Amino acid sequence: MHIRDILTQRRPCFSFEFFPPRTREGAEQLYATMVDLASLRPSYVSVTYGAGGSTRELTHGLIIRIHEHTGLTVVSHMTCVGSTKEDIRGILQEYQEHGIVNIMALRGDPPKGETTFRQPEGGFAYAADLVAFIKKHFPGMGVGVAGFPEGHPDTPNRLLEMDHLRAKVDAGADYICTQLFFDNRDFYDYCERCEIAGITVPIIAGVMPVTSLKGMQRMAELALGARFPARLTKSLVRAKDDEYVERVGIHWATEQVRDLIDHGVRGVHFYTLNRSKATLRIYETLGLKNVSAPMD
Ligand SMILES: Cc1cc2nc3c(=O)[nH]c(=O)nc-3n(C[C@H](O)[C@H](O)[C@H](O)COP(=O)(O)OP(=O)(O)OC[C@H]3O[C@@H](n4cnc5c(N)ncnc54)[C@H](O)[C@@H]3O)c2cc1C
Repeated sequence: MHIRDILTQRRPCFSFEFFPPRTREGAEQLYATMVDLASLRPSYVSVTYGAGGSTRELTHGLIIRIHEHTGLTVVSHMTCVGSTKEDIRGILQEYQEHGIVNIMALRGDPPKGETTFRQPEGGFAYAADLVAFIKKHFPGMGVGVAGFPEGHPDTPNRLLEMDHLRAKVDAGADYICTQLFFDNRDFYDYCERCEIAGITVPIIAGVMPVTSLKGMQRMAELALGARFPARLTKSLVRAKDDEYVERVGIHWATEQVRDLIDHGVRGVHFYTLNRSKATLRIYETLGLKNVSAPMD
């Protein structure tokens, strides 16, 4: 099923993001998480493509396994990093043959040790070019793109950034899924700015609970520029021990999701980090079980 079709339903869409594990232990952890979270009947699950294209084969293998062995709708992330157009064409061809029809088209972050993205020879410079390529050569594919409520660090000019986002939508993107954020006001403001820029595709809100102080540091590094509101930071620092930090983080994310639903959000995308506890808790507290199941 295409994500754009799921997004036409009256209920909000709830989705979960996983990354491809590199070790046997990690694979077992992910398997257990999938079993736990599949019971929540997510609208779809997505699998990331490691920074710098580092997990290319792992991502594809996992996508095909999820598609063939679970009944879940799956979205494969794909980046421009380190790939030629022909590499990308080959991957899309393989997906098409396996019946995978949803791609999250991204520029990608630079590989470890590098600070700036470099366009690969024979490849793409921006996600918009990847979207256009997919739509031209694989018109049956549904395409999502990334959005940044707090702004993307490479484009400090926020008006220009909206033009770049609009270019992805004009190239054929069906929806936008956002980077994580901790203050919903940033998301609502972003949605309004999209509307002003003439961007009318659905916007899915990315949510990631803080579950440890170390994790918080890592989020700050990965989601460059992520703003931790003082009220959240105060509570996390006060909690100190990871057990309590996790409770604070889950509570905060639960309130974020409650507020997003109350404001009529089209979808919530949970960055799970291959763990199920936080997402299960949020579902439980908000009584969300089955809320995203397909309409009968
Ligand atoms: C939901 C989500 C999932 C993600 N999954 C992954 C993943 O699996 N793997 C991974 O490596 N990374 C992932 N990322 C991170 C993402 O790849 C990086 O944040 C990357 O830096 C930006 O990607 P983009 O697709 O938004 O790029 P683009 O849309 O190409 O934008 C990149 C930057 O270039 C600017 N820009 C765009 N077009 C132009 C132009 N014509 N001229 C000048 N500047 C321009 C934009 O304003 C922006 O600052 C994800 C991010 C999100 C929000």
